[in-house]
Amino acid sequence: MASYETEHNINRAEQSETRPRRPDLSSFFSLLSQITPDRPEERAREHAVPVPGDVSAAFSSLAEAFQLIQRENEHADSDLLQNMIEALMGAAEHPPREVKGVDEEYIAALDRVNIKTIKKDADCPICGNTFVEDPHPLVVQLPCHSTHIFDLECIRPWLLLNGTCPLDRMDLAQRERDRKQKLLDDIKKNASPEDEAEEEWDGLYG
Ligand SMILES: [Zn+2]
Ligand SMILES: [Zn+2]
Repeated sequence: MASYETEHNINRAEQSETRPRRPDLSSFFSLLSQITPDRPEERAREHAVPVPGDVSAAFSSLAEAFQLIQRENEHADSDLLQNMIEALMGAAEHPPREVKGVDEEYIAALDRVNIKTIKKDADCPICGNTFVEDPHPLVVQLPCHSTHIFDLECIRPWLLLNGTCPLDRMDLAQRERDRKQKLLDDIKKNASPEDEAEEEWDGLYG
């Protein structure tokens, strides 16, 4: 039986030829979900650290994805990407005890950049593609600097794992943890003990 694609004359390969293909990150994200459970009840178990082998696998999986970008995309020849790959491979070899990246909530709240305001030749520091040539641009700006902008798809896996800006190495995840802690401290200072404020703000723990 003919598939939908052949019946409707859709050639997927042809459609994507204009732009280098992106690596499939599904195995990376499934590894990541094992080492950073996002269900609150699991998060509450502070001493449940992930297995080092799982952490290592997540780092090498992203390193491989970035290597694929480096190999298949002629624009992706930056020292930055090379450094990111080396950092990922280093972490795969000596996995950190805990993964200290940002959470999906943080990613979702990143400032979206209006493609009309971007210079024509501006490109993503990771994949090297110019933003304006992307048929479906989804560009985000990191809070560290107004010029630190990336394809969401390129920066998201890195931030979830590392939590740092690749350009200036600012630890955005740490900054976010500090911000939430300060919020909690302020609330505790202002709330009387019988208030149920603490319970309400539990959602802030990242
Ligand atoms: Zn990119
Ligand atoms: Zn930055």
